[in-house]
Amino acid sequence: MDYDKALDTAIQRLHDEGRYRTFIDIERKRGQFPHAVWRKPDGSEKDITVWCGNDYLGMGQHPAVLAAMHEALDATGAGSGGTRNISGTTVYHKRLEAEIADLHGKEAALVFSSAYVANDATLSTLPKLFPGLIIYSDALNHASMIEGVRRNGGAKRIFRHNDVAHLRELIAADDPAAPKLIAFESIYSMDGDFGPIREICDLAEEVGALTYLDEVHAVGMYGPRGAGVAERDGQMARVDIINATLGKAFGVFGGYVAASAKMVDAIRSYAPGFIFTTSLPPVVAAGAAASIAFLKTAEGQKLRDLQQSHARTLKLRLRGMGLPIIDHGSHIVPVHVGNPVHCKMLSDMLLEHFGVYVQPINFPTVPRGTERLRFTPSPVHDPKQIDALVRAMDTLWGQCALNRAELSA
Ligand SMILES: *Cc1c(COP(=O)(O)O)cnc(C)c1O
Repeated sequence: MDYDKALDTAIQRLHDEGRYRTFIDIERKRGQFPHAVWRKPDGSEKDITVWCGNDYLGMGQHPAVLAAMHEALDATGAGSGGTRNISGTTVYHKRLEAEIADLHGKEAALVFSSAYVANDATLSTLPKLFPGLIIYSDALNHASMIEGVRRNGGAKRIFRHNDVAHLRELIAADDPAAPKLIAFESIYSMDGDFGPIREICDLAEEVGALTYLDEVHAVGMYGPRGAGVAERDGQMARVDIINATLGKAFGVFGGYVAASAKMVDAIRSYAPGFIFTTSLPPVVAAGAAASIAFLKTAEGQKLRDLQQSHARTLKLRLRGMGLPIIDHGSHIVPVHVGNPVHCKMLSDMLLEHFGVYVQPINFPTVPRGTERLRFTPSPVHDPKQIDALVRAMDTLWGQCALNRAELSA
């Protein structure tokens, strides 16, 4: 085999489909988020504002988080030195897991290298614990859940996005005695729409199924203590396994599941993606724990309120200009463009001419024809930056002669 040629073919295929990804090199400036410096391919630099970050609350530069990390770094050094089982469990890991369990009102929690790994490792392991398990998975679930469900070799059913009637049909067609698990998300991050947590929990109770909820885009940001949408809606105790990340609103790195002590004990004991990998550096665990603790407080609530208010302002202003925004009431602000070339062009021009960094979201992340720009306003975006963004969009949208409002529902 000509291996080089095979690689060329694979990469060319992406170019042909307009799906080849290029990274934008940015250097975020601590204390000045969402400001960053863009290092262009030609070596020059430009000041930009990041409008597509997932550090949703700016906790990546929060003094409480950084202080905890400095302290842990000086106290213990760089890495953890092992897997959790072999010398890699420290007091920082135990504290972090206690903080997470408390956040979600569960008996226990288990920290993984990332929420991707937590989803993949947990969902691929559950059929070992519950032989014959059937997993019902929302059609728009994140790639990490899809991979976990796919790899486990067990039975799976895909229900139409947020369609509880379809989910019910699928369950009704299966053996009532078979063990079942429903896997879904609380906020789907491309449209910013909410999953029907209460309805799915009702159904799960009725048919004796377990529930598995990915709260990655909600933790830190919803609920009085930042535990997510299930907390906000009073459903948290009804969800059997909660998955989330420490890398988005918590601003650090890592992922986890929270559940009953017995469930966590079993996952801990059976999931290769947990067992055979070096544990998080203590410094990362310390930072994540400090972030979670801070966001449980009234100070954290102030950040949540500010984020929601900035999101509402941005939506109001973009909508006021007749731009087709997708609004489901969450903190995510997608603007529908509907064409991959226009979407990329808008993103390039925003960056080059206005210092606004927003990545184009194209197929396969979203279906063809629904290409979009996805803005993530945070508490650290000030009104001046919102204003600059709105004016830039106004100018460009006119130049590109995209249909206003026509595209919106
Ligand atoms: C980003 C994301 C993950 C993965 O989280 P990481 O900690 O970055 O690996 C899982 N689920 C959803 C819905 C996500 O958007």
